[in-house]
Amino acid sequence: MKYSFWLIFLVAAISCKQEPPRVYTLQDDVSFLASDSLMGRETGTANELMAADYLVKRYEGIGLTPAGNAGTFFQTFTFKPKNDPHKEVEYVEASDSTITGTNVIGFIDNKAEKTVVLGAHYDHLGMGGQGSLHRGDAAIHNGADDNASGVAVLLQLAKQLKEGELKGNNYLIMAFSGEEIGLLGSNYFSKNPTIDLDKVTYMINMDMVGRLRDSKVLSVSGTGTAPIWPQVLNANNPGFELVLKESGVGPSDHTSFYLQDIPVLHFFTGQHED
Ligand SMILES: [Zn+2]
Repeated sequence: MKYSFWLIFLVAAISCKQEPPRVYTLQDDVSFLASDSLMGRETGTANELMAADYLVKRYEGIGLTPAGNAGTFFQTFTFKPKNDPHKEVEYVEASDSTITGTNVIGFIDNKAEKTVVLGAHYDHLGMGGQGSLHRGDAAIHNGADDNASGVAVLLQLAKQLKEGELKGNNYLIMAFSGEEIGLLGSNYFSKNPTIDLDKVTYMINMDMVGRLRDSKVLSVSGTGTAPIWPQVLNANNPGFELVLKESGVGPSDHTSFYLQDIPVLHFFTGQHED
C-alpha cells in the first residue's frame, strides 16, 4: 500500500514536471546545421532532409503556421540534374534520374493586407564539387557561414516577429533548398507561390551573414529595387559600414523575387577562403 502510494506520487510528479521552453541561440542553430552529421546539406540528400526536419521543429517551436504544400511546411520540387550549365533547369515529375529539393515555409499571419518575405537558403555543397572553392580531396563542406548563418538569423527574426509588436504585415519565413545549384528552390517558389505574390511588398534575403569583420562592412544589394531603400537603410543603421549595391540580380535567392518585380534586399558580410 505504502509502496503503491509512492509509485503513484512519483508518476504524477514526473508527468507534472514541465520542461522550461528551450531558448535557441544563433550558435545552436549554426552548430546543428553545420555539423558533420549533416554532411554539407546537399540538395536532395537525406542529410538535407535532416536539416529540413530540424527547421520544421524550430518553426513549430516558434509558432509559425505551415505555408508549404498540403498543410505542411514543405514545398518540394523535382528536377533532372543538368549536364549543360547554360541550360535552364526544368522541373519534372519524380523518377529514378531526378533530384527532389525541399523548401521549408512558415507564415506569421497578422491578418494584414500585405506580406513581407524573409528568406535564407539552407542547402550547401555536400562534399564539394561544382561551386566549391576547395581544391583537393572531397571533404565535408559544413557551410557554417554559407548559409547556416543566414538561416540562424532568419529563425531569430521569425521568433522576434512572432512575439513582437510589429503587426502591420504578415511574414513569410522561407528556408530555400537548391540555391547552390542555381537558385532552384526560390525560382520554383516564385513560379509556384504558396501565397499571393501580388500581396508581397518586398523580400529580404540573408546569404552569408556570419563573418562581419572588425571594419563592420555590411554589403546590401538590391538598393535600387525600391526608391526608399537607401533612406531606410541609412536611417536604421546601428553602426555598420554599409556598402550599398543597386542591382536586384545577384548570385542568391533574392534574384528570383526581383525577377517577379518584387523589391529585394540581400545582406552579406563578405567572401572569405572558407
Ligand atoms: Zn549561399
